[in-house]
Amino acid sequence: MKRGFKTQAEKSAVEARKVLGVSPIGKLDPWLYAEHLEVIILDFEELDLSDASVRQLTASDEGSWSAMTLEEAGIRAILLNPAHAVTRQANDLMHELAHIELKHTPARVEVSPSGIFLLSDYSDDQEQEADWYAGTMLLPRDALIHHRSRSQSATDIAKIYGVSEALCEWRLRMTGVEVQLKRWGR
Ligand SMILES: [Zn+2]
Repeated sequence: MKRGFKTQAEKSAVEARKVLGVSPIGKLDPWLYAEHLEVIILDFEELDLSDASVRQLTASDEGSWSAMTLEEAGIRAILLNPAHAVTRQANDLMHELAHIELKHTPARVEVSPSGIFLLSDYSDDQEQEADWYAGTMLLPRDALIHHRSRSQSATDIAKIYGVSEALCEWRLRMTGVEVQLKRWGR
């Protein structure tokens, strides 16, 4: 990750809340944020997919994909795997939005016969950046300190922010918040 990237991500988390009228440590709804970025969230049900494709994507292949970003005539749209828990969808959506906001360039672009682009295969560096950015947007460091110093557990915090417990634990560990608070004897 580039120098200063993590600090920039924390600033973006505050900025995104400001434009949505949320306090700096409030909950960021990635669906509302997508709307602000003028990114369309496709409704899986409304896509004209064959029954076989739906089964393939939600049952047989359920674990193999989380989200897809499509582009048509400059308009970006994201399709989320509806078989996944909404907490996971929130993170997957934020991850896709991160690629867009960070202006990442996919290594591979598939084009459908109707001219829709499927953006995929980002570099490992860009995937790491998108993961970090998404985690920061959903759970800013100051928010973690705020709740953790009031003895709220990762489970409590995950519930407040509509994310998975695993993501919350990852953020507490990776931001050093857990260690920092232990040092303070909280
Ligand atoms: Zn990605």
